[in-house]
Amino acid sequence: MALEKAKTDSVLGWEVHDHLKSLGLETPMTPNVKMLNKQKLSLIEDHFEKIMETLGLDLSDDSLEDTPKRVAKMYVNEIFYGLNYDYFPKCTAIENKMKTNGSFLLEKNINVQSNCEHHFVVIDGLATVAYIADKKLLGLSKLNRIVQFFAKRPQVQERLTEQIRATIQYVAQTDDVAVYVDAKHWCVKSRGIQDQTSSTVTLSVGGVFADKVSEIRKEFLNLARSG
Ligand SMILES: [Zn+2]
Repeated sequence: MALEKAKTDSVLGWEVHDHLKSLGLETPMTPNVKMLNKQKLSLIEDHFEKIMETLGLDLSDDSLEDTPKRVAKMYVNEIFYGLNYDYFPKCTAIENKMKTNGSFLLEKNINVQSNCEHHFVVIDGLATVAYIADKKLLGLSKLNRIVQFFAKRPQVQERLTEQIRATIQYVAQTDDVAVYVDAKHWCVKSRGIQDQTSSTVTLSVGGVFADKVSEIRKEFLNLARSG
């Protein structure tokens, strides 16, 4: 479900959008992302009704008649709300008074429930995120919320991973960020090659985590892979 207004920060959200755009990491999108939800719901409902009709489904059946409405609500309010930066999570950061001495904070097994932008079917996996605090300390749940926000839009896993990394760098004001995502793609599992067991791993690193010989990178990868 999209966040309540009190937990969102649209000003920060659109700043993040501009930042990702400048890095070439933004999802290809048009100004329609800012269209009113009411209008989006009614348009998607109409279009989905046409898809069902084309497939030969009888929309007068009481089990099917509300499906276009349900799909529209699910797209706009739930699985794709992360296209609209008005719903970007509030990321209150506090001043870091500790001498953290290069030690990192790692949040493991964050749920990633997304949808692939090529087939609109489920991507289901886990993310591990770490950062070394510089001047700012982020609340733990903010890392989960940033992951969740970018998962809630049609995605490719590589871009999702980069968007999370660049956004945490921006919000926490540090280069030292690492993001690891391991996910199953239902478009690989349930269609096409129909592989039931393979999963896709992506890694995006900045600052000290980008140094291939550094101990801190090894430590991060060991923790991320250890399940
Ligand atoms: Zn796909």
